[in-house]
Amino acid sequence: MVNIGGLIKTSLTDYPDKISCIIFTNACNFSCPYCYNPSLVRGSVKNIKEHEIFDFLEERKNLLDGVVITGGEPTIQIGIIEFTKKIKALGYSVKLDTNGSRPEILKELIEKNLIDYVAMDVKAPAEKYSLVSGESLKTINESISLIINSKVEHEFRSTVLPALHNGSDILAMAEMIKGGKILFLQQFYSGETLDPDFKNKPAFGIEELMQIAGECSQYIPTKIRGYDTEIKMGQDAKQGK
Ligand code: SF4
Repeated sequence: MVNIGGLIKTSLTDYPDKISCIIFTNACNFSCPYCYNPSLVRGSVKNIKEHEIFDFLEERKNLLDGVVITGGEPTIQIGIIEFTKKIKALGYSVKLDTNGSRPEILKELIEKNLIDYVAMDVKAPAEKYSLVSGESLKTINESISLIINSKVEHEFRSTVLPALHNGSDILAMAEMIKGGKILFLQQFYSGETLDPDFKNKPAFGIEELMQIAGECSQYIPTKIRGYDTEIKMGQDAKQGK
């Protein structure tokens, strides 16, 4: 049973070239200090029943192209494979957003053709990974490798801010995903954060970030993505990635 904390019924921006809805799973196994969605990460958002989600998806079959499954971290949910299978059976394309911490789940989803697009976060360079996420680098590298070597459409993305990353760090992160399709560097914006000390941390200036993106492109095509949308949901959750 997947623990669902939020649903955005229509999005034109979260799944490339598709009109999608977004399903937010409750809880995350990382605690990125800059995370915009503390309540979802802690799993304290009110649960939406699975049958309500499937009733909605059944109704919208002719209006939506895709479903984005995000979090929190979807791959820690028991039942995520079956859940995704049921969505695919309704004819939807599925995009998965993940922090890459469960390569075995990712592998199964890819091998069973249950996802059509995957967006994986890259949090930090190798030597700093545990500071941001507490996760072993081995699992992260396994997920990176799985994604790059699969035929699934994909992107990597990194929320970057001077309090955690310098230019060399970001370059090293790009090198970690060399051979991938694209990296989006996501600008950090002040607001509610998992670690309250990060609430008003400064962001990179756009010119500096553009310069860093240019350097990253030696390893992987790199673009900058702004983060200026606070997503309102009935369950009072915001997008956490
Ligand atoms: S940013 Fe993503 S991976 Fe990090 S704590 Fe928030 S939901 Fe989890």
